[in-house]
Amino acid sequence: MRRESFHIVIIGSGAGGGTMAHALAKTDVRILVIERGDYVPQEKENWDPAEVWKRLRYRTTEQWLDEKGEPFLPYTHYCVGGNSKFWGSVLYRLRREDFGALQHLDGVSPAWPIDYDTLEPYYERAERLYQVHGQQGVDPTEPSRGPYPHAAVPHAPQIAEMVERLKAQGLHPSALPLGLIRPGEKDGCILCNTCNSFPCKIHAKSDAEVCGIEPALKASNVTLWTNAQATRLLTDPSGKKVEAVEVIRNGETIRVEAPVFVVSCGAVNSAALLLQSANDKHPNGLANSSGLVGKRYMAHLATMMQGFHPFRKNTTVFQKTVAINDFYFRGPGANYPLGHIQTQGRTHGVMAQIVVPWIPLWAYDAWVARGVDWLVMSEDLPSEDNRVTVGRDGQIQLHYRANNLTAHNQLVAEMKRILRRLGFWAIVAHSHKNKNTTHQCGTLCFGTDPRASVLDPFCRTHDIDNLFVVDASFFPSSAAVNPALTIAAQALRVADHIAERSIW
Ligand SMILES: Cc1cc2nc3c(=O)[nH]c(=O)nc-3n(C[C@H](O)[C@H](O)[C@H](O)COP(=O)(O)OP(=O)(O)OC[C@H]3O[C@@H](n4cnc5c(N)ncnc54)[C@H](O)[C@@H]3O)c2cc1C
Ligand code: SF4
Repeated sequence: MRRESFHIVIIGSGAGGGTMAHALAKTDVRILVIERGDYVPQEKENWDPAEVWKRLRYRTTEQWLDEKGEPFLPYTHYCVGGNSKFWGSVLYRLRREDFGALQHLDGVSPAWPIDYDTLEPYYERAERLYQVHGQQGVDPTEPSRGPYPHAAVPHAPQIAEMVERLKAQGLHPSALPLGLIRPGEKDGCILCNTCNSFPCKIHAKSDAEVCGIEPALKASNVTLWTNAQATRLLTDPSGKKVEAVEVIRNGETIRVEAPVFVVSCGAVNSAALLLQSANDKHPNGLANSSGLVGKRYMAHLATMMQGFHPFRKNTTVFQKTVAINDFYFRGPGANYPLGHIQTQGRTHGVMAQIVVPWIPLWAYDAWVARGVDWLVMSEDLPSEDNRVTVGRDGQIQLHYRANNLTAHNQLVAEMKRILRRLGFWAIVAHSHKNKNTTHQCGTLCFGTDPRASVLDPFCRTHDIDNLFVVDASFFPSSAAVNPALTIAAQALRVADHIAERSIW
């Protein structure tokens, strides 16, 4: 078997791994990024709804099993930049209270081992790296912070008018924080209607390839292997150190050795890699003395909603600029958190047709042209029954039963009332339920107690000194805003920790 050696090996090039590679590129050590997918080509199909939604051109074809053992296609992408290539680029900080224990209807959302102030300087850096546009001081749940690096993207006229009518309802709509490169400027983001769930054809989306990997590769000490899948981490005979990772690249198995390994394969695949790497010293999977590897999987409760009015054409191209956080900590008639609401990218007829295929496309196109799209999102709570397991053949199984549904349904009902007050004639709601893996997190949670967590507060495994995990796995709770900025901020914090202590 061919052998290679580096100082730091980062496995996965998404929000966690790509940010990590960028931050460590300034060191003079040799860094290898291993990515199982390839570059997403820049091609006309990037912005073709039929290619992206019907033919699933960029999704993985890998199947996972659900809790009943039925195969399904996870909503995930294996490519340089990972799922960040397809994100809506809504880059939120968690709320200060999300770092503490929060009582929800279905139980307690547990405290994090770090507080907001610890992560705040890294949020600031992550916002600069990902060029976040926003407006400080409007959102009632906003934690203390300085100004955004870039001014908020202005609302399109129909959205601006709707914002005024939301305010008249007593709500506090705020600007969605968005990672976009020079929106509306020459050679920048053109604020199109194919952003969320589509890759950006002109590379104007702040994703982990554009903002992380590409600049990192300009440094001579960083190497990227694409089409290279890590299949197993190998420990030394004591079991206390990872010596090497086995990688399959273009049909060849390569042993890559290093003093430091950073796993960033996404919450499901990172847990799967650790479970698959079980050996005599770690019979239940690497770093699994707590028995928690793969457990406490969370993914948010998400419902897409559309307000429809037959005589009001929605001419907005880029409508994803508004958030409503009035019910984040308590709802009308509920003394517990309900969640977060944001406008979504425009729905296209082919996307809607996937739900009920017998309705003709022209009817859908006419419908969505008169609709305004929203996403309603609530926190799901960590449960050890919700977990990732791996079969002998490496097959991933996701056991997930949603909890906190009553609070989510209350938020959906409240949003229906809000949309009716805005004058919409019909409101459509749709959820991908258990199959929505886009906001996967929590499978290797961080904490101070090795019996109750897999990672320490710097995302180093309690059991293995030279093994870090920097992706969505570390979340002890899912909060109710989009996760990626927190992944990036923690990646920067862990990178500093590794660099300052020369852990290699
Ligand atoms: C359509 C869509 C829209 C979204 N919108 C938003 C949004 O607006 N805001 C937000 O905050 N979040 C959003 N998200 C979620 C966000 O993309 C994820 O939270 C984030 O990308 C997770 O980062 P990660 O590093 O954990 O994993 P990923 O970004 O998924 O990266 C994991 C990487 O590891 C690679 N990999 C996996 N296994 C292996 C292996 N064995 N060997 C080598 N490489 C491997 C994968 O190919 C991938 O590149 C969205 C997601 C989707 C799919
Ligand atoms: S041009 Fe802007 S809005 Fe369109 S996909 Fe790219 S980043 Fe998103």
